[in-house]
Amino acid sequence: MENLYIYIVSLGCAKNRIDTEHMLGVLSGSNAVIVDAPDSADVIIVNTCGFIHDAKQESIDTILEMAKYKDAGARALIVTGCLAQRYSKELIEELPEVDAYLGVSSYSKIIDAIEAVLDGRKYVSCDRLDHDLTGRVLTTPAHLAYVRIADGCSNNCSYCAIPAIRGPLKSRGMKSILSELSDLRAGGVSEAVLIAQDTTRYGEDIGRPALSELIGEAADIMQGGWLRVMYCYPEGVTDAIIDTMLRHSNVCRYMDIPMQHFSDSVLSRMNRRHTRESSIALVERLHDLGFVLRTSLIVGFPGETEADSDIMADCVKSLKFERLGVFRYSAEEGTRAALMPYQVPDEEKMKRYETVMALQEGISQQICQGQIGQKARVIVDGIDAQTGIYVGRTMGQAPEVDGITYISSKKDLTAGTFHDVLIKDAYEYDLVGEIE
Ligand code: SF4
Repeated sequence: MENLYIYIVSLGCAKNRIDTEHMLGVLSGSNAVIVDAPDSADVIIVNTCGFIHDAKQESIDTILEMAKYKDAGARALIVTGCLAQRYSKELIEELPEVDAYLGVSSYSKIIDAIEAVLDGRKYVSCDRLDHDLTGRVLTTPAHLAYVRIADGCSNNCSYCAIPAIRGPLKSRGMKSILSELSDLRAGGVSEAVLIAQDTTRYGEDIGRPALSELIGEAADIMQGGWLRVMYCYPEGVTDAIIDTMLRHSNVCRYMDIPMQHFSDSVLSRMNRRHTRESSIALVERLHDLGFVLRTSLIVGFPGETEADSDIMADCVKSLKFERLGVFRYSAEEGTRAALMPYQVPDEEKMKRYETVMALQEGISQQICQGQIGQKARVIVDGIDAQTGIYVGRTMGQAPEVDGITYISSKKDLTAGTFHDVLIKDAYEYDLVGEIE
């Protein structure tokens, strides 16, 4: 392949970011030069997200925006990822400006796609292929890395399109994960984040549930650094997982457990395996053990009544999650929920969304204010571009989704290092600390 300037946009979740990093890994073995602006690119790649309405709209808008650069000299526009996997047939019709489509298991074919397009041919590869890509170019700060432990999902929540996009649960071999983690640690990564659609089911499809064992092994490799675990399905959080996390001081006392709702009738129509009672018991237990908890909720699910919304609001008030995200239900074609009666009107969804967000803002501010005067261990992420102040995160602040900690220090700080800070002030979601 001739020398080529390539610009890549990565949309969606951390799992999609890893796919982008693998594509960069494949390209790093060629004459590709990655540029940081589309107007100097020969080839533009958009790695899309496609699981709910808003994410799909953002992907389409980005593709159309990048297509404009074909008039300014870009020779190829390639769309990859979940939107391509889910809608390549429709997109081929609707977006003639796109030259190639790669699905979620075709990233290894990026060079074939580029060569075909530069040879004047359209290129599509969206079949489900076996792939265990190794070699990636990190797009996170050098001290931080996401590590995917499994792809796909077999939970089949009634509203979710991900199993149709990414297939059933497919766990990576533990040896492959641990060897990647060792390389990352040796390469200077001081915070590793284990991710999957549902990390708690890791290993079930290759023998037996093995997340607790994996956390133990990974924590040993990350000695002197931090290990964080995201996307834990409530019902999958076992004693073994909790015990292993507590046994290792470098495992963040943090758990991301998407509850989605607290009304039992809504949970059963969502095909979720947990109940209000089991959710409350788990949250209270983890809080008693000192865990910081993140969750996500869906408002406006088909058939959700005022009473269901009140149940959610009451649980949000009483359980006091430190971190909480809210999604308005999106009817996704191909899902059972999209065919359910009593779809909730958009304006009602927005009202319920704003109610929960307002509640959580108050709760989060209270929790952050409560940390003033306390000491906290932080990892330095770098310098905030706007304020010129050091920024970092506590164990209770996951990258990209939670608040941050502003750090004032008389001495120079290095990204990826750990320090004790005294919390001096707090906002709704962020903290202000000082290194003594
Ligand atoms: S667990 Fe998550 S990814 Fe899996 S089906 Fe449910 S919502 Fe989708």
